[in-house]
Amino acid sequence: PTNEMTVSFLSCSANESFGRAAVAAFAAQLDPTIDELSDIKTAVSEAVTNCIVHAYRDTIGVIYITCKLYENGQISIRIRDKGCGIEDVEKAMQPLFTTSDSEERAGLGFAVMESFMDTLRVTSKPGKGTSVTMHK
Ligand code: ATP
Ligand code: MG
Repeated sequence: PTNEMTVSFLSCSANESFGRAAVAAFAAQLDPTIDELSDIKTAVSEAVTNCIVHAYRDTIGVIYITCKLYENGQISIRIRDKGCGIEDVEKAMQPLFTTSDSEERAGLGFAVMESFMDTLRVTSKPGKGTSVTMHK
């Protein structure tokens, strides 16, 4: 990478917009179009929200974001938590799958990340945490 940053913050809902804004501020040096920046912000929001509402459902934990910029103008973003983890990642990534019974959750977060970014990779260990890496 030609540049790199890491931030960490607590999983309180007030920090959802902080995570999104931190990535957007860092990505700005790529001179992205408004659309590209908005895609990145949307994807980061979904991943950070998942950490807040799923990974650390009944508790508050730390969320880590690492962004890397590459010579070819690509950006990679990794969002990591040390929360509850995901039992079956493949199943969790299917559109409309949700473990939440809240009206607010549609089970579309991973589908949104997948469609707004060029690549999406999710790794998880139950009880250990989850890592979501995406590229654009
Ligand atoms: P929506 O994003 O539409 O509000 P959702 O969060 O349930 O609904 P996804 O974001 O696609 O949908 O996530 C699917 C499921 O994967 C979640 O319901 C949850 O069970 C699991 N999941 C996602 N991210 C995490 C995470 N960081 N830690 C633990 N479980 C997660
Ligand atoms: Mg979600």
